[in-house]
Amino acid sequence: MTWIININKCMRCGGCVSVCPTAALELRDNVIRDEKLCKLCGLCDQACPVDAIKVNKP
Ligand code: SF4
Ligand code: SF4
Repeated sequence: MTWIININKCMRCGGCVSVCPTAALELRDNVIRDEKLCKLCGLCDQACPVDAIKVNKP
């Protein structure tokens, strides 16, 4: 059960933030995730145009 972001790849487009169904993501200096809200659905992984997020579902 992991959610990993490569902040060197991320171009801060906000796409993952928009697609997250539980509002677990927030764009600050980097994308930050609220672990309690994240359901590991993988939508942010699919939405990222530069493949910066990797979600391994439980
Ligand atoms: S895995 Fe799903 S719930 Fe978790 S941050 Fe990504 S889009 Fe949101
Ligand atoms: S969708 Fe990808 S590039 Fe865009 S803010 Fe999220 S992690 Fe960064």
